[in-house]
Amino acid sequence: MKKIGLIASLALLSLTSVFAQNRSEQNHAERFEQLGTMLRTPNVYRTASGAPGHMYWQQQANYVINVELDDENQSIKGSEKVTYINNSPDQLTYLWVQLEENQRGAGSSTPKVAESSINKGMTLRSLQGIIWANEDFGYKVLEVKDAKGNPLPVTVNNTMMRIDLPTPLKAGDSFTFGVDWSFNITNRVGYISGRPGYEYFEGDGNYLYTMAEWFPRMAVYSDFEGWQNKQFLGRGEFALVFGNYEVNITVPADHMVGATGVLQNPNQVLSSTELDRWNKAKQTYDAPVVIRTQEEATELEKGKSTEKKTWKFKAENVRDFAWTSSRKFIWDAMAVKQGGKDVMAMSYYAKEANPLWGQYSTRVVAHTIKSYSSHTFDYPYPTAISVEAANGMEYPMICFNYGRPDSDGTYSEAVKNGMIGVIIHEVGHNFFPMIVNSDERQWTWMDEGLNTFMQYMAEQEWDRNFPSRRGPAHKIVPYMRSEKNTLEPIMTNSENIVQFGPNAYAKPATALNILRETVMGRELFDYAFKEYARRWMFKHPTPDDLFRTLEDASAVDLDWFWRGWFYGTEAVDISIENVSWFKLDQRTPAEKAADAKAAAEYDETNVSRTNNMKDVPETVIEADPATRDFYTTYNPFTVTPADEEAYKNFMASLSPEEKELMNSDLNFYEINFKNVGGLVMPIILEWQYTDGTSEIDRIPAEIWRMNETEVTKVFAKKKEVKQIVLDPLRETADIDESSNYWPRQYQPTRFELFKGSGAARGTSTGSNPMKRAKNN
Ligand SMILES: [Zn+2]
Repeated sequence: MKKIGLIASLALLSLTSVFAQNRSEQNHAERFEQLGTMLRTPNVYRTASGAPGHMYWQQQANYVINVELDDENQSIKGSEKVTYINNSPDQLTYLWVQLEENQRGAGSSTPKVAESSINKGMTLRSLQGIIWANEDFGYKVLEVKDAKGNPLPVTVNNTMMRIDLPTPLKAGDSFTFGVDWSFNITNRVGYISGRPGYEYFEGDGNYLYTMAEWFPRMAVYSDFEGWQNKQFLGRGEFALVFGNYEVNITVPADHMVGATGVLQNPNQVLSSTELDRWNKAKQTYDAPVVIRTQEEATELEKGKSTEKKTWKFKAENVRDFAWTSSRKFIWDAMAVKQGGKDVMAMSYYAKEANPLWGQYSTRVVAHTIKSYSSHTFDYPYPTAISVEAANGMEYPMICFNYGRPDSDGTYSEAVKNGMIGVIIHEVGHNFFPMIVNSDERQWTWMDEGLNTFMQYMAEQEWDRNFPSRRGPAHKIVPYMRSEKNTLEPIMTNSENIVQFGPNAYAKPATALNILRETVMGRELFDYAFKEYARRWMFKHPTPDDLFRTLEDASAVDLDWFWRGWFYGTEAVDISIENVSWFKLDQRTPAEKAADAKAAAEYDETNVSRTNNMKDVPETVIEADPATRDFYTTYNPFTVTPADEEAYKNFMASLSPEEKELMNSDLNFYEINFKNVGGLVMPIILEWQYTDGTSEIDRIPAEIWRMNETEVTKVFAKKKEVKQIVLDPLRETADIDESSNYWPRQYQPTRFELFKGSGAARGTSTGSNPMKRAKNN
């Protein structure tokens, strides 16, 4: 208390001017208020701490599916038996089943609700997108029956099908039904592009199938949403129920099949050589073992078997099932030790993907499993597969990726890194949303944002110079700076986002990285993020559960952060407005008097006096001795004995600590900061001293809690400062770095000089007419 009083009582010597701060009208908005009713009311299913409640429940759907691929006609037909277990406390009168394949059919709403316009130069593909209405696609056969084979009444509403139950399904009961179905497979690299489909290879006349969203799947019925039966339009992905799968896939005998789950009959579908190699791969931990070689696959491409083989797979506790099939496939695999058990990391790819894929794919799969497990939980599934399919899409245990060399086998660093990045990303999706099973139809960011964040960490753990596209704060700046009418909060439905990639992938990934590096720190964040993953693995979390858990496990109030980054569109733009430098007044009374005299003289300095010094002759006016007595001897710049006494007493009254402070020669820097962008963030300052050293101060975002637009703070420094840099490590995504320096640093904006009146037009193409003229 005494010390504070002392500082307050001391006069401060201002070396620069000081201005009183006027609080702007909107100084206290609600940026630091709790989210309150913006979050769901906690209940017995979901607690206020962000964990599943004591009466948490979720539905289950088990599938037995027989499917046959027709390679001649690129179609499939299948029949499935679904057992739906009602774990909810509610009685259900109907079930909703998803029919994503209909999104590619004639009745699809996708082209209807897509804006379109004619441009001067249009690609054939974009024109096909406008007139898209194809009778060939969507479910051709769709027959729903009860367990005894009797037809069940259904209503198909585009991509959703309602099955009306003969009797209400009571809590705890299950209902079994069957569906027979068929459809033509779309060309996934054609104009009805999409996640699943086939690719045709002209060179050898073969097809490569990636089968996803290929069977009628149960919609999610939950405590927070009821039935999630929002239509599939192509972007908002899937909301799916956990269950166990038994899938029998019949394909031409020379095809290789990869799928979700574990192959049950390798003896029947693999050659004895392949079986030996497969068994060897299961015990090989250092490098992939090639089970079907490029030479063997190339040989198979030449013929077309009329025989068939059925590949049998089983998968437990998965929310979906996908598979791939082609006679073009090379297959390699290796074992990865994870959490005390072995996971088979595998890749399927055609010769067109080599030599890149043989070199990297399976190794990247293995790395991803290890990296993601270390940040969440041990990868619980027995396999993880990467398939080269010229796209990028994830399913449980299997994903489809891109990254193909040129036809001569050469590839650029960019192609290689793109491939590594997409494999990490898609394999990583096993964690979010395959296991931490969020509702993708509603929230793209809950899996894409979290996964892109994890991808960034895994990329940097693969190679700390990896050119990650997303993650570091400054990479989100162009998006945060873009026109306000193209921005929505992250908390926006998947279908309604203008800039999809930046909003649903990059911004949430960046926000999490900022939490980890800047707001919470790695120790607190990593524990809390792991806790979220552990709490919700094999369950259905909502955004609230994530927001709450990260606070609950860290004791960091993050409501301001969720408000700013997830519910708002403001950008970070903090500016150093003014810096004032102060020093403690340590002068003796004599020094003070001398300074006061100098100041008084300076006060009299003016242009007339300066000129008079030259123009007016020096004259001395003698005072009349008779009047001289009227002058006093008072000199305001003389030190009086009373002044000396007061100074001596003050110095004597100081304690040793106070004396130390008095003699410390500290520099006080009073800085005025302005929140120009609106999004409140910590203030991070680098002090570069005149002696060449530097240090960083970190001020939590709560500095803004009383005044969200302007704050002033004083920093005491022993050393003298040469330059102050705000956010020196570029960790807050500040969209205007030019206001982050004191003194201000100005970078020239370069402009080009052209000769001739019309030359400036050349800039639109980036060409330089001046240069061109020279060259010509
Ligand atoms: Zn993704």
